Amino acid sequence: MLAGELVRQLDYKAAWAGRQFVQIDRWYPSSKRCHSCGFVLESLPLNVRTWDCPDCGTQGIDRDVNAARNILQAGTALLAGADG
Ligand SMILES: [Zn+2]
Repeated sequence: MLAGELVRQLDYKAAWAGRQFVQIDRWYPSSKRCHSCGFVLESLPLNVRTWDCPDCGTQGIDRDVNAARNILQAGTALLAGADG
């Protein structure tokens, strides 16, 4: 499935379910940003599977769960009218 088709389907399904579909900036650092304090790492190699924040001490969060929380925060901010 092409990316454009996936986006179209998500938009359609969200509307069908009475939900809002929001796209965040594709360059938003969702994996490298701490969902708890906002600290951003310079790099996070793919073999590192957990998020350990050097700034606030958050530890052991699955990197994809951390990224998902960041994406949720970014999307919610967009819906609230804040600048992403
Ligand atoms: Zn942190």
